[in-house]
Amino acid sequence: MAIRNIREIGDPVLEKNCKEVTEVTPRIQELIDDMFDTLYEANGVGLAAPQVGILKKIVVIDTTGEDPILLINPKIIETSGEQTGYEGCLSVPGKTGQVTRPNYVKAIAYDENMEPFEIEGTELLARAIMHELDHLEGHLYVEKVEGELQDVEEVEEE
Ligand code: ZN
Repeated sequence: MAIRNIREIGDPVLEKNCKEVTEVTPRIQELIDDMFDTLYEANGVGLAAPQVGILKKIVVIDTTGEDPILLINPKIIETSGEQTGYEGCLSVPGKTGQVTRPNYVKAIAYDENMEPFEIEGTELLARAIMHELDHLEGHLYVEKVEGELQDVEEVEEE
């Protein structure tokens, strides 16, 4: 168990494509455990491996603090609807902006035993899945913000 250093916007590792995971080695398992520790320490909703400097297709998400989700090699297979709302990112500290995402997402991914499974999400979970999968292709939500990127404090006062 360890907290890893979260890479911030401007770090080139956040702009690269990630490689597929072929096997959950002890090193990958340690990375997954550390990613959950780092996510909870930062009070985040999701974290992708490139955010801790590792170019592998691994995502951890927890929208409630009690529902850890691990996605290895995730792929979106279906989306529908639309939602627009404020989004933030642990790699863009203190900032937020409005982003439009699908309101429903279905994805396929692998678990830590490399067994495939499907995951469906709406609202915040759908948003989190789309946001984290963008990280695996080197994209940050700031590219999709409608209007200005704002300071979190300003938005909370509105
Ligand atoms: Zn992010």
